[in-house]
Amino acid sequence: MKENKQPLTTLSQQEQERYDRQVSIKGFGRKRQLKLKKARIIVAGIGGVGSSASMYLAVAGIGSLTVIDSGEVELSNLNRQILHWEKNLGTSKALSAATKLKQLNPDIEVTAREESITEDSVLKLLEGTDGVIDCLDNFPSRYILNDAALKLGVPVFHAACSGFEVRATTIIPGVTPCLRCLYPRELHQAKVPILGSIAGMAGNIATTEAIKLIAGLEPTLKNRLLIYDGLHLRYNLVNISRNPDCLFCKGVRTNEG
Ligand SMILES: [Zn+2]
Repeated sequence: MKENKQPLTTLSQQEQERYDRQVSIKGFGRKRQLKLKKARIIVAGIGGVGSSASMYLAVAGIGSLTVIDSGEVELSNLNRQILHWEKNLGTSKALSAATKLKQLNPDIEVTAREESITEDSVLKLLEGTDGVIDCLDNFPSRYILNDAALKLGVPVFHAACSGFEVRATTIIPGVTPCLRCLYPRELHQAKVPILGSIAGMAGNIATTEAIKLIAGLEPTLKNRLLIYDGLHLRYNLVNISRNPDCLFCKGVRTNEG
C-alpha cells in the first residue's frame, strides 16, 4: 500500500477541504485533526464491526491504519461485512478491506496484515500503536489482545454485538477495567446471530471513542459499559470498576500524564 508521504505537522489544502465539516465542529479544530493525522490505529478483525469501524477511521483521517484478519470472505459474511462484496468471495478479508479503505481516503496509510492475533505475534503487531479497535469474534483472541495491550499501555476500544444488542467499552490500561475484569470467563460463542446494522453501530461507537481519545477529548465509555438494545431502542451506561484481584491488570500503571 502507498505510504502517507505528507508532512504530519500541517494539513494540506486538500486535507483542509476533506475534513472541513469535522474540523468545524465546536471544540474540534485543526489541532485535533492533526492529532488524528499523526495517529496509528489497528483494527483487529475486519468483519461486520471492523468494516464500519475501519471505514469511519479512514474517512476521519487517521493517518495510519492497520487491518488484521486471517480470514477469507464467505457468502454468509455479506449481510453485515460491508467492506467485502460479492466479487471478493474467497479472497483475503485484510486485503479486501485495505484496498477499499485506500480508495475511500488516499491520503492515509493503510496496511493489511493477513494473520491471526496470536501470543507470538501480538506484541510486535501492537508496538507503537496509539489504539486498537477490538472487533474480534472470539474470546481467546480478545484475551490475547487485552493482555498485550495492558503490557504496552495501548488503549483498546472493545465492541461486540449479538442479535440486536451492542456492548462496548473503552479500556485504558491502568485506568479502567480490562476485558478480563469485565469477562473473567470466556462467553460461549457458537455462531452468533447478528443484524448488519447492529454490527455497524458497534463499530461506529468504538470508532467514535477512539477518535475522541486520540483527539484529546474524553472518551465516554471509560469505566462504563454501553449496552444498547436496538430492538427497543434502549441503552444503558453501566458503571464498571477494576477487579482488584484481576491477575492481568493488577499493578498496571497508566500512561496518562
Ligand atoms: Zn483486569
